[in-house]
Amino acid sequence: MGFDRRRSVTRRGRVRWLLVCALLGTCVAISTGCTQPPAEPQSRRALLIGIDGASLRVIDPLIRQGRLPSLAAIAQAGASGPLRSHYPLLSPRVWTSIATGKEPKKHGILNWVRPGGKETRELMQSSDRKVHALWNIASTHGRTVGTVNWLNTYPTEIVDGIVVSDAAIPGEVRNREMFFARKDAAVAADAPKEGTTFPAEWHERVTKIRKEPRLFADLPNPFEGDVDFPKWAFRGLLSTAFANDDLIARLALAVEEEIKPDLLMVLMPGIDKISHFLWGTLEPADSYPDTLQFTRAQRETSRQALLATYIQADRLIGALVARFGPEDLVMVVSDHGFEARVLAKGQTTGGHDTAKALYGVMFARGTGIAPGQLVRGVSVNDVTPTILAWWNMPVGEDMDGTPANFLGIDDPATIATHDTSPVKRVAIDLPAGAEDAKLDQLRALGYLQEEHEIE
Ligand SMILES: [Zn+2]
Repeated sequence: MGFDRRRSVTRRGRVRWLLVCALLGTCVAISTGCTQPPAEPQSRRALLIGIDGASLRVIDPLIRQGRLPSLAAIAQAGASGPLRSHYPLLSPRVWTSIATGKEPKKHGILNWVRPGGKETRELMQSSDRKVHALWNIASTHGRTVGTVNWLNTYPTEIVDGIVVSDAAIPGEVRNREMFFARKDAAVAADAPKEGTTFPAEWHERVTKIRKEPRLFADLPNPFEGDVDFPKWAFRGLLSTAFANDDLIARLALAVEEEIKPDLLMVLMPGIDKISHFLWGTLEPADSYPDTLQFTRAQRETSRQALLATYIQADRLIGALVARFGPEDLVMVVSDHGFEARVLAKGQTTGGHDTAKALYGVMFARGTGIAPGQLVRGVSVNDVTPTILAWWNMPVGEDMDGTPANFLGIDDPATIATHDTSPVKRVAIDLPAGAEDAKLDQLRALGYLQEEHEIE
């Protein structure tokens, strides 16, 4: 399999260094010296992995049982702990704060949909974001970027690198049209044909990679085969969510293989989707109405399926981390935790609304991060400032976050704002008037003083 081959190349690389060291005869005496020469800060790479809805309530015991070795290794080599989110705990708002360092009122992605009646509800798009994201900032400053499945990245923006938007993941747009824009199946839009990837030819690559086998054949999809799940748990949807985390990791590995970007960002949403239905297996049965009960057998099968989703995410994290060196920055974050919650429609056992779900998780390791630290007082707004400061790049004074405690950088270099040029995105057919609205928005933000500055 492609992944194993790449791992063995890395291992061969290390063996070669050991050999060089042995020949020189120096490294035996200086036991810590037998590593590759330290990379300059500018050339160090960063990996940011999002695991939507991942909770320490599940992760902590699984780490103690040795079942999440990739996250355990990051925690041991660096920092780990709770990551504070902000209300309302809606994924698009929070993931955009993670990617911009700014509160939703500033970045503009307030919900899954734009406000409006049922007939006019439309999904929010990348063009609704009013500020630069980490991929724009990195790209503007000469760093290559790869972004896979980050929320609200359709239509794709033009960066120095590759963007595979969330609209490129099969079924995503349609599901959101039905769940969040509350459209009937007959009128819900399918995945768009253009603007889902940058460059456009990655549209074909996604189709090809979809057909390739899963990375870890020894971890069967727990929602497939002869197993008993409650009828209300939307088993088909959960099976797709489990499979899509693997697809998303494969897409990220393909981007990595192709351009080895300075910044790779990937968002895996499986844990959130599966927790909405199966979180109840971790709660007392009397927290739920009769219509949302598990039989004893279903409870165990469903609990194991939820844990398997975390275990698969950890394996996928391991596959991505294996592509990065010990001096590179590796960060894994979630946007919120989970709690017992029955939605009005009465179909879910888990949700994220109150203080019980306010904290997600953060794991980070890399040069300058001392091993075994606790993440303290860090919020979702701090992720982008942390990555910028780690790169010795200035943090925007208009950002709402600051570098995380574990970097030990008290007064990072700053700049008034990184939002000094219009964000460019691929051209798709926008509804009449949308372009004018976008230009007005840019003008209001001070991007455009004069018409002739428009690129
Ligand atoms: Zn959710």
